Amino acid sequence: MSNFNFDVITLFPKAFESINHLGVISKALDNNIINVNLHDLRKFGEGSYRQVDDKPYGGGAGMVLKPEPIYKAHESIRKLSNCITLLMTPQGKVLHQKDFLRWSSLNQIIIICGQYEGFDERVRGLADEEISSGDYVLSGGEIPAMLVINGTTRLLPGTLGDPESLLDESHNSSLLEYPHYTRPASFRDMKVPDVLLSGNHKEIKSWREEQMNIRTIKRRKDLIDDKE
Ligand code: SAH
Repeated sequence: MSNFNFDVITLFPKAFESINHLGVISKALDNNIINVNLHDLRKFGEGSYRQVDDKPYGGGAGMVLKPEPIYKAHESIRKLSNCITLLMTPQGKVLHQKDFLRWSSLNQIIIICGQYEGFDERVRGLADEEISSGDYVLSGGEIPAMLVINGTTRLLPGTLGDPESLLDESHNSSLLEYPHYTRPASFRDMKVPDVLLSGNHKEIKSWREEQMNIRTIKRRKDLIDDKE
């Protein structure tokens, strides 16, 4: 079973407590499939105040994370053989399912979380990839880092009860997944489609394929257009 290390450099390690309560991710932690090592940036701060940020040269609003504490934190992390460093930034490449897939074959991801107005430009020198969770600005890189941990972990062998559930999943191909139903067969006059109750696996398969197409065209036609 793989043992995958996430090493997160953050000013707010406490923010990561919630991943202990996230279903399969907490199971992956309990089963030692992943380790999440939190590196408190404050510990690498300078002087008796452990300063980690400063005013931007040239003026302007907000505070900027200084380069030295981040470099020191990064240097303090033991690097495994198959490791990359991701920098969380709204200026990075927007996160996609295929990134999780690519990263799931590594054994270590170091994640640097910015805060405030961001970080000194020289911090970019540590990053193998700059990653944005989407086209919006959050207050810090912690939530995007949790997205990386969550999305990568559920692809690691042993994490999901039934790895088959990854196969048809939305964003694994350019199609969204088909609709799911569970019992009861009729709920407040909303009925499960007959074909799913038929036991005819061939028909179920072709219904699901058709639904994937219909759904994707209706909701996210851009996914199909992008492929062409
Ligand atoms: N002034 C910066 C934004 C700073 S937001 C700019 O305009 O580019 C503060 C920090 O939050 C960033 O350094 C980054 O680490 C994190 N952050 C905010 N939005 C993010 C996003 N969409 N994806 C990844 N990280 C983000």
